[in-house]
Amino acid sequence: MAANNGAVNHDGGLIVSFGEMLIDFVPTVSGVSLAEAPGFLKAPGGAPANVAIAVSRLGGKSAFVGKLGDDEFGHMLAGILKENGVSGEGINFDKGARTALAFVTLKADGDREFMFYRNPSADMLLTPDELNLELIRSAKVFHYGSISLIVEPCRSAHLKAMEVAKDAGALLSYDPNLRLPLWPSAEEAREQIMSIWDKAEVIKVSDNELEFLTGSNKIDDESAMSLWHPNLKLLLVTLGDKGCNYYTKHFHGTVGAFPVKAVDTTGAGDSFVGALLTKIVDDQSVLEDEVKLKEILRYSCACGAITTTKKGAIPALPTVPELEAFLNTHH
Ligand code: ADP
Repeated sequence: MAANNGAVNHDGGLIVSFGEMLIDFVPTVSGVSLAEAPGFLKAPGGAPANVAIAVSRLGGKSAFVGKLGDDEFGHMLAGILKENGVSGEGINFDKGARTALAFVTLKADGDREFMFYRNPSADMLLTPDELNLELIRSAKVFHYGSISLIVEPCRSAHLKAMEVAKDAGALLSYDPNLRLPLWPSAEEAREQIMSIWDKAEVIKVSDNELEFLTGSNKIDDESAMSLWHPNLKLLLVTLGDKGCNYYTKHFHGTVGAFPVKAVDTTGAGDSFVGALLTKIVDDQSVLEDEVKLKEILRYSCACGAITTTKKGAIPALPTVPELEAFLNTHH
């Protein structure tokens, strides 16, 4: 991709990212419980929305499909997508339900505490009839997670959007982004996440998700390959500060991480996925060329690493000039 001074060039194929966008409320001080927190800052999030913005920051063309509350926060989030060059043609607003909120804190003992306001939230109420099918049919890549599978009617909307995208020839990309507290049980989470497993051609899981889905405590090739399915073109296991493992039908290997001083790893995986999708949307043959794929994964790991160096997910997603400056100083 040519450098574009951070501007959105929108020449490439469209990447449509489907799912939730919400506001994380993060304590103004670290190491306290939710109850002890003196105040909270708004941090826009939701993995599929982060991926759409990651793509756009890197000069790719992206759209977000999902539902927000017809409230101050919903319109604020839609504004953030727009400011970042993400198409909002697939966004619906719910008159009744609110935009989802999540209060998130990292306690002094390292445990994460979550409290969700989804009773229900607007994202859960997206119906199949509300989908912008024309937009979805124009996707070259259709990306999604698993949170949209948790309840109806959003689950049916997710399944329909996936089918429409696939029928129109899109590459399906899946990052389950496990959020256990949102599921009725761990079994249900595993079952539903796996229920759409064999549809995706690109799947990215984290090391923790690999353990959860396989029930094995080993992060190795054997457990990763137990998740392989015949339609899959690329399976990725991200390993935080150890980089990632990649698997295709014909080859597999590891790409190391870039050493950085991480301050907040939120969004690293979304940044990684956004970078990867931006690089493969117009030329999927790279998935069969190990040398080229490794180069793309190096670029994706650089984006993941940069994202950990700043607080928050969206503010930390790199632009092309930031990425180039980083790559010039990290060989
Ligand atoms: P997720 O956010 O989905 O859990 P990871 O934390 O594994 O995903 O991060 C995705 C990618 O971002 C990794 O493969 C790695 O390249 C990069 N990354 C994440 N954390 C770090 C870190 N602490 N230092 C350097 N790179 C990192």
